[in-house]
Formats: sequence, C-alpha cells, structure tokens
Amino acid sequence: MDQVFKSALPILQKLKEAGFESYFVGGAVRDLLLDKPISDVDIATSASPEIVTKLFENVVPIGIEHGTVLVLLEDNKYEVTTFRMEGKYEDYRHPSSVLFVQDISKDLARRDFTINAMAMDENSKIIDPFNGQGDLQKGVIKTVGNPIERFEEDPLRMMRAVRFVSQLGFSLDEEAAKAILKLKPLLNNIAVERITMEFGKLLIQSNVKKGIELFGTLGLNQELPLFQDDEQILQTLKRKGTYPFKAGVTEFIAFIGYEIPNVTPNLWMKKWKLSKEAKQMAQNQINRLKLYDSGQPIELCIYELNPQEVEIFGNLLSRIKSSPQMEKVKVAYQNLPIKSRKELSINGNDLLSLFPTQSPGPWIEQLLKKIESQIVLGKVPNQKSEIKDWIRKWKLHESS
Ligand code: ATP
Ligand code: MG
Repeated sequence: MDQVFKSALPILQKLKEAGFESYFVGGAVRDLLLDKPISDVDIATSASPEIVTKLFENVVPIGIEHGTVLVLLEDNKYEVTTFRMEGKYEDYRHPSSVLFVQDISKDLARRDFTINAMAMDENSKIIDPFNGQGDLQKGVIKTVGNPIERFEEDPLRMMRAVRFVSQLGFSLDEEAAKAILKLKPLLNNIAVERITMEFGKLLIQSNVKKGIELFGTLGLNQELPLFQDDEQILQTLKRKGTYPFKAGVTEFIAFIGYEIPNVTPNLWMKKWKLSKEAKQMAQNQINRLKLYDSGQPIELCIYELNPQEVEIFGNLLSRIKSSPQMEKVKVAYQNLPIKSRKELSINGNDLLSLFPTQSPGPWIEQLLKKIESQIVLGKVPNQKSEIKDWIRKWKLHESS
C-alpha cells in the first residue's frame, strides 16, 4: 500500500474499532490504480459527522451539513465524509437535501464518473460497483448511470468531464458527449466560482490541449461568461494553449489580455468573480510583457518580481513567442544585481544631503528611478560611493 494511504490507516482502524465501516474513496483510489501521484486521500464512513468529531482529537467541522469533517493526523489532513445520497438539486447549486446512508455502494452511486466511484478498504480491496477499473483501462470518462440525469442533477459535472479529459488524457464517453451537447445551457445556472475552479484545474493539466479541443467541440465556451462574447478567446486558446498553464487562471487571463487587449483581467475579475489579487497579478504580467515588446532590456521587465512571478513571466513569454524563453528569463533574474528597491544602497535622504540646496520634490523619485535602472542593468555598482560618483557625472552632463 502506498505511503499516503498508510499514513491514513489509523483513521480507518479507529473507525472500525468503534464499529463503523470506512474506506478510501474517489480521486485517491483512481490515481493509485493509475499509478499517478496521489494528492488528497479522502475517506468515506458509515459513522455520522458527530461521531467522527467525537472519535478524533483534532477535527475541523468544514462541512458538517454535507457530512464532512476534516481530521488532522500528524501533519496531514483528511476529509472524512459520512456515506450519503443526495436529494434533488433544486437550484443547481446544492443538493436540496443530504441523506446519510449505511451503505458504501449508495455513496459511490452519487459520484460523478465511474473512475471516481471506487472505494478501497484497509486491506487494499477495491470496491467497484460501476466498473471504474474497466473504464480506467479503456481510458474513458463515463458517468455513473444515465448521463442526461446526472448532468441535469448537477450541470457542473459537464465541466468536470472536460477537466478530467485534460487531467488524464482520457476520451469522453459518447453518450456523455451527446448529453453535454444537449444540456450545456444548464451551465448558466451554476455559480461562476465553481466553473472557474474546474476551468482552472483544466488549464494546469498535462493534456490541456485535448481538454481545450473538447471544450470547443462541445461548445462549452458558448455557455461561459466572456468566452460567449468573443470567439477569439477560444481560437487564441486553441492556437497557443497547447501545453499546461502552470499557474492556472491567472496565467491564462494574462495571456488572453496580452493577445486580445480588450479582454482585460478586470473583465475576468468581474465576470468570473476572480480575486482582486489575481487581477492585479495578471495585469502586472501584461504590463511587463508590453515593456518587453517596447524593447526594454529583460532585466528591467522582471525587476521587482518574486521568483514565482518570474516563473509565470517565463511561461507567458514562451507561449507568446512560441519558443522556450524560460532559461533566458531565469538567468537574467539570477544575475540581477538587486531584485527590489529595498536593496538599493542609496535612498531619498542620501539624495537630499547630496543636493542640500534643493528642496524635497518629485525629482527625488525620478532620480532614484534613474539610479535604480542603472544598477539593475549593471551599469553602476550598488555601492553608495559609486552611485554618488555617477550622480555627479550625470548632473554635470545634464547642466552642460
Ligand atoms: P483531484 O485528484 O483532481 O482532486 P478528485 O477526483 O479528488 O480529483 P474532487 O473534485 O476533489 O476530484 O472530488 C472528490 C470526489 O468527489 C470525486 O472523485 C467524486 O467521487 C466526488 N465528486 C466531486 N464533485 C462531484 C460532483 N459534482 N458530482 C458527483 N460527485 C462528485
Ligand atoms: Mg480531490
């Protein structure tokens, strides 16, 4: 048994001692059978959330009404969810009622796709009532039961289907594809935040090209904000979205905003309910890409970015140029004499004392900017005396 499951075994054992059934479920079981890295191990149990809360020392009630309790063990967190069935999805957002049940197979039946509807017990025995293993082998994303019913019940599953195609490189079952073609307008009833989350997961996966192709073939773009107003977004994405957007939605909206200037990060923020931080990060990247286009040295384009942002800048530049640019970007970053204003060895007060007859004003910031870029470009060493020499020469030159 994989180490990530072993670490969670004490939870299954404790539940068993207390007289309850419990299993590993969902994505972790799927990824184990696929021999893929396992992210979160989720657990399903016949014990009620109240009992789970009482049995374990460190718990966080993250979704008691849906039956989920977060159990903290050592340095790990596990979502422990009571076996449940779902009532009708009246508002397409949440099931109108949650019914706890005693039977794992009922819990598996409420899950979206056959490959996500498997469980594993403490002896590594797989419970697979919908032949998820067969579909894993065939490489197909297939709904548990009738796709029409399952997509009507929760239209977000249509986005999830495409997300899993992107994640696993699988094909979409034909009946499921037909159902999506028919039911995709139901996506308009789904909270955009949920769509954003699945779309973000689609973007970061290794088979994103396949995911985006399918997204377009099924016409899901016609149902999503912004995509539906401008066909160019999908076309641009198809043309250059052929490998993963490692930083997800932020990287994607920066890319689109650069390629199609009137589709701004601000619009995505409003229509896709993104955070202000995501918007600002994307806009900052666009501004720097434009700086690069205007012929500014790469050093000035990446100055004051943090390492993570440098990575995104490298990805974006590579995508836009359709050629690898990361090495160049990283080398330039490593060689930057200073990475931010804080490292500058001269400040406004130094400038004031250098020019005692001048009163404070915007000239200080202007001069600091000039000095800063000289240092970033390696033209002046970042030492007070050297900087002062440079200022004197520059002043002389200015007044002559
Ligand atoms: P990942 O490894 O990317 O997290 P995952 O399979 O764990 O993939 P989650 O979105 O974390 O995906 O969901 C966990 C499990 O919950 C799924 O495997 C599936 O069984 C079930 N599930 C999640 N969302 C839905 C849904 N909308 N409808 C039905 N079942 C769902
Ligand atoms: Mg998961």
